Amino acid sequence: MSKSAEYVRSTVAMPARAALREPVIETRGLRKEFDGFVAVAGVDLRFSGTGVFGIIGPNGAGKTTFFNLLSSFLKPSAGTVLFHDQEISRLNPEAVSRLGIVRSFQISSIFGHMTVAENLLLPMQRRVTSGCEFWRRSHGLEAHRQAIHDIMDQVGIASTWRDQQASALPYGLKRSLELGISLATRPQVLLLDEPTAGMSSQDIGRIIDLIRSIAEERMVIMVEHNLRVVSDLARQIIVLQQGRVLTVGTYDEVHSDPRVIEAYLGGKRGIGGHGHA
Ligand code: ADP
Ligand code: MG
Repeated sequence: MSKSAEYVRSTVAMPARAALREPVIETRGLRKEFDGFVAVAGVDLRFSGTGVFGIIGPNGAGKTTFFNLLSSFLKPSAGTVLFHDQEISRLNPEAVSRLGIVRSFQISSIFGHMTVAENLLLPMQRRVTSGCEFWRRSHGLEAHRQAIHDIMDQVGIASTWRDQQASALPYGLKRSLELGISLATRPQVLLLDEPTAGMSSQDIGRIIDLIRSIAEERMVIMVEHNLRVVSDLARQIIVLQQGRVLTVGTYDEVHSDPRVIEAYLGGKRGIGGHGHA
């Protein structure tokens, strides 16, 4: 590996200003094989600070597998994931989410037969009952009225939806609720796998604003196909190809990189042209 590539890899996601900051998440030699097929082939990355980190790459590059390793939904074949220097790759996903790394699920995390407020209450109760606050008196809807209101407000769901069945929400608002459910656990790191998948461009604009505000005080790592979203939001972009880190940089740096263009399109056209990877 060339010296400059070595430098990029070892300082990934760390702008010069934050270079001395401890990484929040670090992967070392992270590798995942499925029946001998290598999906993630030894990834060394460090993520520090707050803001959005985008993971892009062609289909089959290993993005989702990498993601599942970060949240411990998959166990690595080799290597480790560290969270504040603590090894988490052998913990179960529930334990990892209690530590503060929360994966925003797809719409399947919503209980359609429950109200919007009840859907937000569940993770709040889980949070509360896992600590000593369990012994405080009420932890029902009333006790969390303000917190539920605040999250609905933050993710842009009008209060008139509060006691409606979640299944009645339009698609875009279901995605917002799904984000709200994740936020209700107060994550330090939020993992999003294609948060804009299937959304109208109007909804995408709204979700971009929402993710930006969420990322002001925490780290967001997201896999995203839509390059408009990545270019708008991501501080740093990690390009994966065949299970390896091809390059890391700002949108401007990676989107004009000939290796990235080649990886996506065999060099036929630029990756930004149609807004999709
Ligand atoms: P991406 O999200 O970048 O499209 P994935 O991480 O989903 O890529 O997949 C990377 C590679 O690993 C693909 O070739 C895929 O077929 C393979 N793969 C992913 N999950 C499994 C699995 N559970 N079993 C076998 N192969 C898998
Ligand atoms: Mg994927």
